[in-house]
Amino acid sequence: MGRGRSAMTSVLKNGNGGAAATLGRVRSAFKSGTPARVHHNPFDDVLEQIDRAARVLHPDVDALEPLRHPRRQVIVSVPVMMDDGHLKVFDGYRVIYDNSRGPGKGGIRYHPDVNLDDCTALAAWMAWKCAIVDIPFGGAKGGVACDPQKLSQGELERITRRYISEIFDLIGPTVDIPAPDVGTSPKVMAWVMDTFSMKKGYVEPGVVTGKPIALGGSGGRLEATGRGLLFVTRETLRRVGRDLNGARVAIQGFGNVGSNAAKLLHSAGACVVAVSDVSGAIYNERGLDMPRVLAYYRETAQLSGFPGTRLLDNQELLRLPVDVLLPAAMEGQINGDNASDIRARIIVEGANGPTTPDGDEQLARRGVLVVPDILANAGGVVVSYFEWVQDRYGYFWKEAEVNERLEEKMVAAFDAVWSTKERFEVDARTAAYILAVERIIEARSLRGLYA
Ligand code: NAD
Repeated sequence: MGRGRSAMTSVLKNGNGGAAATLGRVRSAFKSGTPARVHHNPFDDVLEQIDRAARVLHPDVDALEPLRHPRRQVIVSVPVMMDDGHLKVFDGYRVIYDNSRGPGKGGIRYHPDVNLDDCTALAAWMAWKCAIVDIPFGGAKGGVACDPQKLSQGELERITRRYISEIFDLIGPTVDIPAPDVGTSPKVMAWVMDTFSMKKGYVEPGVVTGKPIALGGSGGRLEATGRGLLFVTRETLRRVGRDLNGARVAIQGFGNVGSNAAKLLHSAGACVVAVSDVSGAIYNERGLDMPRVLAYYRETAQLSGFPGTRLLDNQELLRLPVDVLLPAAMEGQINGDNASDIRARIIVEGANGPTTPDGDEQLARRGVLVVPDILANAGGVVVSYFEWVQDRYGYFWKEAEVNERLEEKMVAAFDAVWSTKERFEVDARTAAYILAVERIIEARSLRGLYA
């Protein structure tokens, strides 16, 4: 972050079975003397977004200041014996950005680029997201810098167990609750739950969400982000006087989010004309038969070759004349270079950060309605919250009940963002940030300053 914070390196003691082993480093993002980074720092975006909300809200300066600082950042070493008999040490991270509304909540990412700045920004976005959907969590994020594609199952399990041992004192159902993120899965969450439970000496399913159903996972969790996108798309269309039925939709990305959104939008009556994965898109202007596309993809692991479709590249998909464009792949896909070519009048952000700030500006100038990620893709964290609730009272709901409660939460969040948009006459993204900042500041001021 390099924002002139004083150098601070302290040591965490981790109560590993009572042994006072020195296991972690807790420190500010940069020690003094660390050279400035040249790459784009997403935490700068976080600060800019807070400022943007503040320019409209005019909150007390002292109330706003804590929002500009992560509550806790931790870096741990994760030494692991690799299959070839050599010891390798990975860097692990866990950041709680804010916990004024409840315990930290946020995923564990396994990716070679995982670093403290990214975890900090992602933790802040989790805090805003939880506030927008009004669930009693703050924001957190963590991960290990590793490439899960190049690791065996055994190595992945050892990394997970050691990483969780290192941050054992910092997580828990009332403290900070991890979940899957890029590169992690329900299976990894099962190891998280087991490691934490073994160290505690009793089973604690509420320490982590996104678990397999057999270990206290929730029905509906796998589809939750896609289902949330369905509700948000429907509500957005309704607000502009359109019906979901027959609305033409193009979806970029066919992983968990994109494929479930495509399936659910299709079954709710939308006309999904194009879907894509990293290798390209398939397009049929009359609409795709989604159940058949999904079955074909499951069988062949590819979209190309699906009968009756034209192949497009991912840039062509973004330019299609549709009612709704739903980016559900990677960050930065809609940017200053291609935003002026987009013909959709509505963009519903399924991915995190699919639109860059310069892309956003161009879209705003052209009157394109962008429903921001921190609202649109919040369905996953809402059902994570339901999973935590069910684990904590040890009673599980039917999947239909989970889906019904998800709809209630997503529609309420959408309405709150929309009325903030109208009240302050701002775009939907700024409205979402205003709502989040307002709710977090309210919680902080009610609690007051401790000691
Ligand atoms: P995933 O790995 O399951 O799927 C990603 C998809 O994007 C794959 O189909 C891949 O082929 C495709 N893809 C990758 N690069 C692409 C490119 N350049 N152009 C087009 N397609 C490309 O991931 P996911 O879980 O579906 O997540 C997608 C996005 O949604 C990410 O930004 C993630 O952070 C965000 N998100 C996911 C969840 C969740 O519950 N899974 C929740 C909130 C946000």
